[in-house]
Amino acid sequence: MITIENKQNCTGCGACAQACPVGCIAMRADEEGFLYPAPDADRCVSCGKCEKVCPVSHARFAAREGFPEGYLVYDRDEKWRLMAAGGGGFAGIARDFLKKTRGVVFGARFDPSDRSRVLHARAEDEEGLKPLLKSKYVQSDTGDTFSRVRALLKEGRAVLYSGTPCQIQGLRAYLGPDREAPGLYTVDLSCHGAPSPRVFGEYLKYLEAKEKSPLISFTMRDKRPGNGLYLQGFGMTFKNGHQAFVPHKKDVFGRCFWGEIASRPSCYQCPFKTVWRAADVTLGDCWFLNSFVPGEQDSLGVTMALVHTDKGKKLVAENALLRRFPVASEKLILANGGMIYQSAVPHPSRAVFFSRLGREPLDRLADELVPVKKQRLRARLADRLNESGLRLEFLRKKSRAGRLKERLNRTIPERALGEMVFPAERE
Ligand SMILES: Cc1cc2nc3c(=O)[nH]c(=O)nc-3n(C[C@H](O)[C@H](O)[C@H](O)COP(=O)(O)OP(=O)(O)OC[C@H]3O[C@@H](n4cnc5c(N)ncnc54)[C@H](O)[C@@H]3O)c2cc1C
Repeated sequence: MITIENKQNCTGCGACAQACPVGCIAMRADEEGFLYPAPDADRCVSCGKCEKVCPVSHARFAAREGFPEGYLVYDRDEKWRLMAAGGGGFAGIARDFLKKTRGVVFGARFDPSDRSRVLHARAEDEEGLKPLLKSKYVQSDTGDTFSRVRALLKEGRAVLYSGTPCQIQGLRAYLGPDREAPGLYTVDLSCHGAPSPRVFGEYLKYLEAKEKSPLISFTMRDKRPGNGLYLQGFGMTFKNGHQAFVPHKKDVFGRCFWGEIASRPSCYQCPFKTVWRAADVTLGDCWFLNSFVPGEQDSLGVTMALVHTDKGKKLVAENALLRRFPVASEKLILANGGMIYQSAVPHPSRAVFFSRLGREPLDRLADELVPVKKQRLRARLADRLNESGLRLEFLRKKSRAGRLKERLNRTIPERALGEMVFPAERE
């Protein structure tokens, strides 16, 4: 029977709960709001399946030479690109997949009956894909989607499953030999870490209380295009008609996420941050399009795509919906800033934050522990002009170029130059 002695060793992927033949494992939220397996010892039949499918216990690092194929991509259709977090790499992949296979796509969406929850759901047409687009910086609940994937594969349907690296490893561990099914395609992310659903719930309460009106729509990657460039931030619309746009680094939840105070304990020592992934494709952000492709301006978002397998090539390289620019993936990985190959470092006051969460207003906690960072005059000026609709890229270009140069000078650690495999795959 699965027992979690050290929370850092459980990613909450849900493979164990879904593998239990008698359904005696519930996924329950702990005091921080993260899901962990809670087996019912009285119903357990001691079959050991739950332990066998734990990806953290069984995946092993295997060194691998070289780098995956790298691309910068965006969806050729501006409408889909605008709806996506980045360039709509996922939107283009998923639409092309649906068109070619008539299969089923799984991804994360806000729970339609409770916006504070994020869960994995299926889509079989373009309309169904829309809620799966854009990043939700909250850990999603995979529910029973792994078992649904197995059933679909057995019926001969093609499946495209997208999730965080730990979710993709969880799915593969759950499927066992079925993970090699020709109809299974997977996409994972360059992942910072997955914040707590409880913190997100507190944040939504804070927003609605401040506005004295319920939220009717919310996104963490709102785009405000203009002047051939665009702004990104949290976008929200309230029932009273007020629409707000808050830049990421100023937003209360944004500061908790990027301040590394709210993610799951396992995210701070993620075993799945390797250059090669179990997924067919890894997607992430890239803010440096015109440095890699001179003459191209990022007017609406760009997605970095790392292609690991032949199936990945089908999804990305043989996809007419995507505009593609091949770029050496080592450079893309470095430019991405480390989240492909290393875990984030937890905020020193993470424990204090969670011990006070719910007892003090979230905005006050965030202001004290992850305050808005002071900006240099140049950046402040650029932000002010940006917010008032005047996008002056030259004000940012220098700092952007400096950031890229610093990142490209880093070295990817040897322990990331490989992939996490299950022992059977090594034989
Ligand atoms: C928790 C989280 C942390 C991330 N951290 C980074 C990072 O540090 N650096 C970086 O470059 N990129 C990060 N990303 C990825 C990035 O935000 C974009 O999703 C990515 O660039 C692809 O953009 P896109 O436009 O192609 O697709 P998108 O429109 O963003 O769609 C990408 C896919 O992400 C899935 N997804 C959304 N939310 C979740 C979730 N909570 N759990 C699992 N899957 C989800 C969607 O279902 C969709 O399939 C993160 C994403 C998430 C969800």
